[in-house]
Amino acid sequence: MKFILFNAREDEAGVIASYQEKHPEIELDIYYEDLTEETMSHIKKGYDGIIVAQVIEIPEAAYRLMKEVGIKVFATRSAGFDMYNLKLLKELGIRFVRVPVYSPFAISEFAFASAMYFSRDIDIIQHNVRAGDFILKDAITSTEIRDKTVGIIGTGHIGRQTAQLFKNTGANVIGYDLYPNKGAEDILTYVASVEELVEQSDIISLHTPATEENYHLFNKALFERAKNNLILVNTARGSLVDTEALLDALDSHQIRAAAIDTYEFEGPYINKKVALEDITDEVFLRLLKHDRVFYSPHVAFHTNTALENLVHIAIDGVRRILLGEEVEEELILD
Ligand code: NAD
Repeated sequence: MKFILFNAREDEAGVIASYQEKHPEIELDIYYEDLTEETMSHIKKGYDGIIVAQVIEIPEAAYRLMKEVGIKVFATRSAGFDMYNLKLLKELGIRFVRVPVYSPFAISEFAFASAMYFSRDIDIIQHNVRAGDFILKDAITSTEIRDKTVGIIGTGHIGRQTAQLFKNTGANVIGYDLYPNKGAEDILTYVASVEELVEQSDIISLHTPATEENYHLFNKALFERAKNNLILVNTARGSLVDTEALLDALDSHQIRAAAIDTYEFEGPYINKKVALEDITDEVFLRLLKHDRVFYSPHVAFHTNTALENLVHIAIDGVRRILLGEEVEEELILD
């Protein structure tokens, strides 16, 4: 079997090599470039599978070139797949694999740590210490998490694991989901609406996919219902939060702080080195510079376990489909 892997990153080299050690029978050609019509046009015939992790759109001509070189299975090293043309893949008869679950622990740990960073006033302590201010004062008299209510919106794989971490601290954990999960009821108590959850919570962690109905769920009206000490954590999708409304709520001390791992217009910056003076998105700049925002560039998933699962499950999905096995991670295109 012969595969091509596009969009390889330096941080994936170790886990790609460990897959190759397990499966020396597979010939795997690795490209660090994006998959474009130009890069695909250099690929010779004789490949069976392709594994990508593409952020930019793949042009139709590049999909057609895949078919010409013999690709039968296309895999993405990600859970999300809204960036791919599934209709065209189906038309070309190319099967599709993704990695829906690679490590809920990675994201939930990051959400928990981000909330604790503000909950124990580490942001203020660090700021003071850097200015030589070692005085004990009100601003760094923290509250303990077990006296707080934590609201989890979206109680799927990651939301449930995050709820469990907070539950372990003794906090009161409440949840909201369009489809409440019976199995989650021993970790959290469901409330009937997002509004109810917002009114009760000291910390809110978001864990739903982005949909039309939850676009800018956290808007001015919802921030007005929040407690003044609210810490908002978004490791889910940027479009769940109206970032300007969030920044206004922070500026007017309507809420305490925000940890933002996913920003609505993050696309141009993810996994890039950018000079701050070249950023023209004023809202993003406000977010980056706000002293009560911890911004991280979509890294919540980034652990060695998650990387290994993303790479190994994606490549192995292609291998197993080609061997005629039934693969749970295949998305049947219809
Ligand atoms: P999941 O499908 O297991 O769970 C999502 C839950 O959200 C489900 O229980 C669903 O019923 C619920 N839901 C859907 N729409 C809702 C709505 N409008 N209101 C309330 N609940 C709703 O998904 P998951 O694997 O737990 O992923 C959760 C989020 O984390 C996704 O947005 C995913 O894209 C994101 N994610 C982020 C990173 C990162 O690095 N920051 C990595 C992986 C996943």
